[in-house]
Amino acid sequence: MIRPSPLLPSALLASPIAPSWLFRHPGPARGPSPDRRVLLGDPGRCGEQPTLVVTVFDDSGSVTSPAGADPVANRYQEARQALRAVARRCGCGQCLGSVLHFDLVAGVPPTALTKRLVLGLEAGLQSPADGMGCSVLGPSLAEAYEITERYPEHVSTLVVLSDFELFDPDVGGVLTRLAAFPGDVHAVVLGGRGPDGGLDPRIQVTPIRRDDPPGALARAVFASLTAHRVGRRLAGPKGADLTRQRGDP
Ligand SMILES: [Zn+2]
Repeated sequence: MIRPSPLLPSALLASPIAPSWLFRHPGPARGPSPDRRVLLGDPGRCGEQPTLVVTVFDDSGSVTSPAGADPVANRYQEARQALRAVARRCGCGQCLGSVLHFDLVAGVPPTALTKRLVLGLEAGLQSPADGMGCSVLGPSLAEAYEITERYPEHVSTLVVLSDFELFDPDVGGVLTRLAAFPGDVHAVVLGGRGPDGGLDPRIQVTPIRRDDPPGALARAVFASLTAHRVGRRLAGPKGADLTRQRGDP
């Protein structure tokens, strides 16, 4: 079944996402770095079932500093490159992406990954100027659940980009809820250490360290964006073809 476009104004107005964060504009990105194209692989083509990929960004101080050219500091530019690579190849108009921040400001609701509309999604790919840089995952995780429940016919993937030094009142409970997300869950662990006690085995974990080569984070996001696409191929750090990854048909 073809769903009506989720981008109709009526759909946006009906969104339970609070307008306060839908329409607050993020400020300029901190520490802008030039986009450097890296090899990601082949996004393949859209599958029969449309996809929804919700990315959640942690902007706490332990993640945002120090500034630099490494994949952690450049996480927004690298995520943008992955989104663009898929948007160039979406032929169905039903593949959706959404950007959330821990602070729940400056997020972007589900938006079609098309060449034209991906620009709207990219507006959320920067540290929110009016965010407090909180280290609490719970609220944005709840938002990701709500978004996903609105798209029951989409295959959902949640990508959380964080150092997982969480200050939620109940960290164990939040991590359990993260593992129980109705879809694929990918923890992109910035700094590479992750939470004490590790993460639930249901969660795919990609550690990204500051000394990883440029593009490491772009490749991690690209892997989740393409996990349910037909014939996708993932490039390795030096452009090697990593075929038959998890999620390949
Ligand atoms: Zn598509």
